[in-house]
Amino acid sequence: MPLNLAIDGPVGAGKSSVADAVAKRLNILHLDTGAMYRAVGLAAIRQGVDPRDEAGVSTVCDHIAVDVRYGQEGQHTLLNGEDVTGLIRTEEVSMAASTVARYVHVRQSMVKLQQTLAARQDMLLDGRDIGTRVLPNATVKIYLTASPEERARRRFLELESKGSTDTYEQVLEDLKKRDQQDMHRAVDPLRPAEDAVVLDTTAMDFAAVVDAIAALAEAKRA
Ligand code: C5P
Repeated sequence: MPLNLAIDGPVGAGKSSVADAVAKRLNILHLDTGAMYRAVGLAAIRQGVDPRDEAGVSTVCDHIAVDVRYGQEGQHTLLNGEDVTGLIRTEEVSMAASTVARYVHVRQSMVKLQQTLAARQDMLLDGRDIGTRVLPNATVKIYLTASPEERARRRFLELESKGSTDTYEQVLEDLKKRDQQDMHRAVDPLRPAEDAVVLDTTAMDFAAVVDAIAALAEAKRA
């Protein structure tokens, strides 16, 4: 049985940077599952399909190939073989990803792909439904959270460093909208798995969070 770690939580809780650091520490791959929903969102936008059109998006999903590759700097996300890693981080794609992620057809395709990847090798997956749906038997399940204001602050700084001109207030508003969609959708809404360890990182040092998760995983591996 491969070592499978699940990290779930809302936007800006620090999932991807924490997941990257933990995976490096344990020398295993990190699968950012949000990037896969982002690729579907980008495909819909490119094909002129409104992300709110479930039937249209489901058809788009049937005719695209989403895949991941690993290079020196970690995960590359591929859409029909094209490396879209740098194109899926805009606010437009973030919101489209959250909208298309509501659809059962989209979720089934992505979950299947994630399960196939995780069955092959030791892997840490981060997302929204990893502990509850993708890997119900994960070795370790973590639910990372923080206050909306702190999460918006982190996301604002991240976007600003990439040249975005969005204000803190806009980022906070988008984040609350995405939380609302992700936590209240009908299919696999974001929530902690019953057996997840919940870590509120609002006032927690990054290194302490990484140490805590790595220690849990090492204890299971031993
Ligand atoms: O994690 P990230 O912000 O990149 O995810 C983008 C969107 O994809 C989320 O807002 C969420 O709606 C969706 N998602 C999901 N299930 C996952 C990962 C992401 O529904 N496992």
